[in-house]
Formats: sequence, C-alpha cells, structure tokens
Amino acid sequence: MHLFDLDYSKLRALKLLRRSDGLSRVELADALHLNKATITALTADLLRRQLVVEAAPQATGRGRPRTQLSIYPGAAYAISLYPLAGERASLDIVDLRGERIHNRILEFRGQDDLEALPARCAAMFEQAIAESAVPRERIRHAGLVLPAPVDHRRGIVHSWPFDPKQRAVAVAPLIAERLGMPVTLDNRATVIARAEHWFGTEGERDNFSMVALLELGMNGARYCAGQMQIGYNGMTPDFSHVKIAFEDGRPCFCGGSGCLGSYASAHAILTAWAGSEGSSQDVWRDPHGAFSRVVQAARAGEERASSAFAMAGKALGTAIAGHINEHDPGRILVVAAQQDMLAFIEADCFATIDRQTIPALRQRTSIDFRTIEESVYWKGAAALALEALYAGKVL
Ligand SMILES: [Zn+2]
Repeated sequence: MHLFDLDYSKLRALKLLRRSDGLSRVELADALHLNKATITALTADLLRRQLVVEAAPQATGRGRPRTQLSIYPGAAYAISLYPLAGERASLDIVDLRGERIHNRILEFRGQDDLEALPARCAAMFEQAIAESAVPRERIRHAGLVLPAPVDHRRGIVHSWPFDPKQRAVAVAPLIAERLGMPVTLDNRATVIARAEHWFGTEGERDNFSMVALLELGMNGARYCAGQMQIGYNGMTPDFSHVKIAFEDGRPCFCGGSGCLGSYASAHAILTAWAGSEGSSQDVWRDPHGAFSRVVQAARAGEERASSAFAMAGKALGTAIAGHINEHDPGRILVVAAQQDMLAFIEADCFATIDRQTIPALRQRTSIDFRTIEESVYWKGAAALALEALYAGKVL
C-alpha cells in the first residue's frame, strides 16, 4: 500500500489515538511532528468522517483546557477469518478501537480446493455477520488469512500448499464481490507481526522485524515507518527461502536449495531427525506428536536430536544476522508456536547473531524470543482489516 504524506499522517494519528485515552491537537501535533495548520486540517477530516470524536474540554488547573480527541469505536467494524487447526476457523468482528465484539469458531472444511475457497469463505463471513449484533452496513472491511504466499495488494493466492498444481486464484476480489465489501488478504506470519504492532508489545514501534516459527513452517515480516513491508509485486515477504547455504544446501519444497526453512523450521528439524531415525512415515502421520518426541530426545541428550536443533539455531542466527546487516531494523522479535523450539535453538541462534552481525549494528539491535499466544491470530487478522480501514481507503 502506498500512502501519500497526509494519508500516512492520518494513519499514524488514528493509531496514536487508539492507543491513548484521548489526545489534544497539540499533543497529536507534537507526536506526529506536524505544524498547527496541518493538524487542524487532518483532525477536521477525521471528525468529518466520524472516525474521531471530541470530548468536552476538562479544566486541569493552569492554562486553557484542551479538547480531547479519541477514536469513535462504533464508526466502523471489521471482520476477519483466521484458519485454525482441525479444519476450523476463527471469525471475529472488532470495532474501530480493535475491541472484539463478536467471536465464532466455525467449521472450515475443504481447504484443499482453492477454486472453491472464495465461496466457502464468503459463506462463513456471512454466517458470522448474521449472528452478530453489529449492523451489516457498519462492517466495512474483511481480513482473510491464508497459509500461502499471497499477493497482498491484489488479493491473489499464487500457490496453494494443499495442492501445488492449482492455478492462481484472485481469492480476495471474488469474496469481496459476494460480500459487497473490500477484502484484504495476508499470510500467517505477516498477521502475527500485525498483532504485535496493533495489540502487543511492538505498538510503540514503527520499525521492527519479526520471525515466526510456526507449527511446521516459518516465515518473517517487517514493519518499516509504521507500515508492513510489501514487495514491488505486492507479495508478502518469504523469509523461509532466504539462502543460508549455497553449496550442498538441503533441498527445499520451493525447488531451490539451502533455504532457511529447510534448516530452521519444525518441519526441517523433524526431517533431519526422522531421516536418521528411519521412521519418517510415523513422523508425518502425526508431526505434532513427533515434535514432542524429538524434544524429549534432545532433552535426553540424544545426539541426532540435539544437532537438529543446533543446526536450526545456527541457520536462523545466520539469516537474522544477514537481515540486520542489510536492513538495520533496530528490533527483532522471534516468536515460536512451541516453547521448546525456542529453548533448544536460542543459545546457538544468539551466538551466531553475535558473531555474524556487524558490531555497530548488533549493539543497537534489541532481540527478543517469545512463544506465540493463541489470541495473536485473531488479533492479527483483525489488525489486517483495521489497518485497511485506518488507511482511509473505504471510509
Ligand atoms: Zn525454498
């Protein structure tokens, strides 16, 4: 999404107002580094569109009392769909402040058929809207999260992990046509970063990078100057195919080799361990159970399991060091679906980052490891729709 300066300032103003209990025009102008005339025009537009309301000024002792501006939560609502394990999906409706107004867990079967997906998702959106108390016309944007590389700008899924032979499908426009509202599409790692920025600890930061180690796969995302970084072609980033080996690298499902995801994901750890264990079929029948077994093996000091985790840590550290050296993001957050994943890779990962990052940048980069909380998923999907609403494309 490309925003012109004033649109960008409006997005930032709305985010600041959302995080606060109310701000005066002077406080907003200071925070946004804007002059009085610009902030007057900007807030007039937000008031006109009824995204923001003014509270009567309160006397605070000295000086002239200032009018407080705050988000009007009922101005618009956003709906989101996030696929969960076990052929289910979380459907959530949030108000303009991001408060969850409605939540429903619905069955989400037949995800392997990409062509049928738009109709299926539209029906689930419709069901949640019908069940909620929010007037339909107030729901102004839908966010959809899919486990695939997506063209975020055009809402196209280019390849589908459940069936790689399927052709690209313009999922978001097809759902938008059925629902009669704009639909924004994103992938899983990207919305975890959105959740951290909108609801989590990274709310005050306009710049940070995130690496997400998911149940099996992995990916990354980056916020820069308060906006999610989307590529020239509209594609969400794919950190798992960053190359960490250029000779004799492990093969990757993308067709290349030496990709980070072939070393640092839970899938890669299981592959390395199962190959040597000689029971790969058992592993893929129940990968989650198998991950528990590889953790137990590592805990018991079994060499193959320990070295699979060590390799994952070194690979991730190498890729993160490369990312810091290239982009200077200032902040890296590594999140994982499994607590044990972090515990077993953290030491090797940090040691590699410390060794491979340019010292001047390493000193200035904060890095945290954290387990993914379940609520991050709906929050991220909601943030996806909220961000589109705040950016002013539909209000
Ligand atoms: Zn790859």
